[in-house]
Amino acid sequence: MMLIRQAQAGRTLVVRLAKEADLLRQLTEICTREKITHGEVRAIGALTGAKLGYYDQSRRRYEILDLDGPCEIVSLIGNVSLKDGRPFVHAHLAAAGADGAVRGGHLVEGCTVFAGECVINEFHVSHALERDYDEATGLAQWR
Ligand code: ZN
Repeated sequence: MMLIRQAQAGRTLVVRLAKEADLLRQLTEICTREKITHGEVRAIGALTGAKLGYYDQSRRRYEILDLDGPCEIVSLIGNVSLKDGRPFVHAHLAAAGADGAVRGGHLVEGCTVFAGECVINEFHVSHALERDYDEATGLAQWR
């Protein structure tokens, strides 16, 4: 089922990420601290190590892929909405190792920041987007 919300632009935050912090936890922390409940997130930078999630659609669970060693954040793109009443960041990451080959997936905890630059655009939405378990996919989707 499709779902559409109208959003108006709020604040734009430009953030230098902290070295050695977990990328996903840090993004969530910023949104919580700044009370950003809806928005979009983008980042570039480098990680000392990374993990990526791949959602196995038939098993309905995330498989975790370990990337060995340092890599570039070629692109991180994601959104912010609510889950259990709190800001929840859903992002996907494309990361490249020394050979330039890109691997990508769902951002999970376990990506350690070496350096990072991030932009968060806040949205004001007509009705809150809250994540809830979706029977059809097994994922926490917007309702
Ligand atoms: Zn995802």
